[in-house]
Amino acid sequence: MVELQEVQLEEIFQCARCGYCCQGETTVSLDEDDQRRMIEELGLTREDVTEKYWRVTGRVVQMQIVDGHCIFYDKDTGCSVHKGRPWRCGQWPLHPSMLDDENNYTTISASCPGINKELSYEEFCRKLQKLLEQEGKLIC
Ligand code: SF4
Ligand code: SF4
Repeated sequence: MVELQEVQLEEIFQCARCGYCCQGETTVSLDEDDQRRMIEELGLTREDVTEKYWRVTGRVVQMQIVDGHCIFYDKDTGCSVHKGRPWRCGQWPLHPSMLDDENNYTTISASCPGINKELSYEEFCRKLQKLLEQEGKLIC
């Protein structure tokens, strides 16, 4: 098998900043590290961040939804907490589950105009796999 040369993220994905992934009635959940980084980025107390921005259900912490989108989404400027966003937001849309099941690829790519649809599924997977090997944790 021919070894792929170094792959650039732009070969498979360039964010169109459409904001689609920040819409919906729920958001990704924040792990402990996400919570700490978001609190730091906002420069507020945990209590204030919890009250103003989070929706806490038992042990699950998510971001509040306002007008059908994440509270941090601004239609003109995008994510207003970009540096402190949850890692799952940074990972989107290049979720490794796309490598395991073409249906996952089809679903995700249908909802994200930033994915390069000119590549075949096999070619997309080869490049994504290579990127994951190169980068470890891939943040888009
Ligand atoms: S990741 Fe995809 S869905 Fe989200 S803003 Fe970028 S292009 Fe749009
Ligand atoms: S934190 Fe930012 S990237 Fe994540 S859903 Fe909210 S606005 Fe979108």
